Amino acid sequence: MITMPKGTKDVLPENSYKWQFLESAARETARLFNAKEIRTPVFEHTEVFARGVGETTDIVNKEMYTFTDKGGRSITLKPEGTAGVVRSFVENGLYAGALPVKTFYITPCFRYERPQAGRLREFHQFGVEVFGATDAGIDAEIILLAKTFLSKIGVKNITLYINSIGCKECRKEYHKALKAYLSARYDELCDLCKDRYEKNPMRILDCKNEDCKAIAENAPSILDYLCDDCKAHFIKLQSLLKTAGVEYKINPRIVRGLDYYTKTVFEFVSENIGAQGTVLGGGRYDGLVEEFGGGKISGIGFAAGLERLLLLLDSAGSIPANDSLDLYVAPMGEDARLKAFEIVSALRNSGISADTDYVGRGIKAQFKYADKIGAKFVGVLGSDELARNIIKIKEMASGTETEVDLNAVAEFFK
Ligand code: ATP
Ligand code: MG
Repeated sequence: MITMPKGTKDVLPENSYKWQFLESAARETARLFNAKEIRTPVFEHTEVFARGVGETTDIVNKEMYTFTDKGGRSITLKPEGTAGVVRSFVENGLYAGALPVKTFYITPCFRYERPQAGRLREFHQFGVEVFGATDAGIDAEIILLAKTFLSKIGVKNITLYINSIGCKECRKEYHKALKAYLSARYDELCDLCKDRYEKNPMRILDCKNEDCKAIAENAPSILDYLCDDCKAHFIKLQSLLKTAGVEYKINPRIVRGLDYYTKTVFEFVSENIGAQGTVLGGGRYDGLVEEFGGGKISGIGFAAGLERLLLLLDSAGSIPANDSLDLYVAPMGEDARLKAFEIVSALRNSGISADTDYVGRGIKAQFKYADKIGAKFVGVLGSDELARNIIKIKEMASGTETEVDLNAVAEFFK
């Protein structure tokens, strides 16, 4: 037997409705907030992520699926959604059109990680990215969009954490203070963090290594180093969230994985699914579009991990049941079979889902099969029914049987 690669998952027919439920809630939420779908390639030139995600991140350092293609180019499977969207925004000149531009995507992502519950090598994200709005109002709106999505799918007991990681200016002072604090314990840092110490010390706060985590506990807080502009932005965001009735907690340890975040960062965390509790994360990235050659245009967005959300919803059992078959036509005899074929075709044309027997089952076995697939109604069609031009339609839940004229089957379902 050929098996699937480690860290991947099949979505089987009996479970795909859960994905469709999540995806349609995502699309509907995006529609309410006026975000339009953007689809970018599953693979990009490696540089897109090296630049767009940042050289000092776990993703770029150890998690990317990178290979050289037959033309000798370095290609990477997308490990996250933002970088490709920014590349596309710039390459297609969207910055020259009407701003802000609000986009969303639902995409597979690939990261070479140690697979565990809520951590896969292929996983899926629903993400939103908005370009060209600098006001804290849009930060609040993006957080509201995220929250609306989470409520729509029925997520409960979730905490919103927010933080501001300032801009380049405030980070200069903060980095000095942070390095001063870290220098005393430099030897205890993991190798990656030793490297980060020079390149981007704030990333050390996001390290998953236990020793680094313990050191980060007492590190100085970025919030004490915000410049006036960043401070005002953070205060405005909080007052807008309060106005909207959105509860939040401030957590100065949240720095997010990506290098280009500025000002607002946020995460929605659940206590219900163990260690991989962060189901959604995002923030402002005012320097990224420029990094891709698109001018000084701000960006803000988030991505939600759909597998983690499914874990949450599955454990709460809150996904509405699959929409099942309207009518299963159970024919007896060859003439009835031909008629059944005609009936199901006509029903489908009227928008009613219908199925019939193609494996020659007896009537009892057909009922058993219809029950197994969860058909709402079963229509019995034998020689007697054919002679009278009717079909006996039985509602499976109640057992109620109705004789329906063969010319009026579609009407019966209206
Ligand atoms: P973590 O700290 O758990 O590794 P992250 O900071 O790497 O998460 P992001 O890059 O912010 O995650 O991605 C956004 C969301 O995508 C996460 O909040 C999570 O729900 C989901 N996610 C990230 N990596 C994985 C993965 N390997 N498997 C499943 N979902 C993932
Ligand atoms: Mg990660």
